[in-house]
Amino acid sequence: MDLGLTGKVVLITGGAKGIGFEIARAFLAEGCRVAVSDIDLNALAAAKKSLGELGECLTLACDVTNAEDVEMMVGVAESHFGTLDILINNAGVLKSCLVEELDESLWDFSLNVNLKSTFLCSKYGYGVMQRHGGGVIINAASFAAVIPSVGHGAYGAAKAAVINLTRTCAAEFAPSNVRVNAYVPGVVATHLTAGMRNDPTTAEKMLADIPLRRFADPSDLASVIVFLASDQASYMTGSVVEIHGGKLCVQNPHAAWSN
Ligand code: NAD
Repeated sequence: MDLGLTGKVVLITGGAKGIGFEIARAFLAEGCRVAVSDIDLNALAAAKKSLGELGECLTLACDVTNAEDVEMMVGVAESHFGTLDILINNAGVLKSCLVEELDESLWDFSLNVNLKSTFLCSKYGYGVMQRHGGGVIINAASFAAVIPSVGHGAYGAAKAAVINLTRTCAAEFAPSNVRVNAYVPGVVATHLTAGMRNDPTTAEKMLADIPLRRFADPSDLASVIVFLASDQASYMTGSVVEIHGGKLCVQNPHAAWSN
C-alpha cells in the first residue's frame, strides 16, 4: 500500500538506537526525509552512517530534557528541510527502583526524560507544524502506563502522564490540522529491556504473559507508527494504540498454550 509519505519530513528523538532507529529506517523506506536526534553521540555517529546509506538523513545532538536544545533541534530541522511534517517523541529511559528507595534526583531524571521531553518537543514541533499548515505528533507511552509495574513507579507515572498530555495536545492542536497519538509497546527487544530478557527465569515469566509468546521486534512497532503518521490514519487523533502481542489481555494467556 502506498502510504503517501514520500518527501515528508520526520523528526525522531532518541533515534540513534532501539525502536527510534527502526522507526527512522521505516520512514526512510517510505521515501521520507528524516532527522534523528539523540544524546548518545557515539550511537548518533553510527546511526548517521547506516541511516545515511538508506536515504536523506540529518543527525542532531540533543538532550530532550533541555528547552534550549529542543528549540535548536526543531529549528535546525526546519531550516535544513524547510518544514516539519511528523514528530516522533521516542526518547525515553527506564530505571528500576522501588518507591521507598527512589530519591528525588532519580524521580526528576525519569520524569524529565520520559515526560518533560514530550512537552518540550511537542510545544516547539507544533510551532513549526502550525506555521506550515499541519502535521502529526506520535508519542511513546508504555504498557507500564496502563498497568503499573513494581519497581517502575517513576517510569509508569511519567508514561501515564504522556498519555494524558497526548489527549490534551490532540484537542488543542486539532484546529491547526495537527494530529497527536500515542502508542503503548509491550516488551520490545532493545537495549532498554536487555537486562530483563537476558535473565532466563525473568524472560520465561514475561513471555508467559504474552499470548503471541515472543517479545516485539522494533520493526513490529515501526510499521504501526508509520501507518499512524500517514493519511490512512487521518481520522485518528487522541488515540492510544496498544502494540504488545496481547500482553495481559486476559488473566491467563498461558492456558491457551497448555492444551
Ligand atoms: P533505547 O534505550 O534502546 O533507546 C532510547 C534512546 O533514547 C537511546 O538512543 C538514548 O540515547 C535516547 N535518549 C535517552 N535520554 C535522552 C535524552 N535526554 N535526550 C535525547 N535522547 C535520549 O530504548 P527503546 O526500547 O528503543 O525505547 C524507545 C521508547 O519506547 C522509550 O520512550 C521507551 O520508554 C519506550 N518503550 C520501550 C519499551 C521496550 O520494551 N523497549 C516498552 C515500552 C515503551
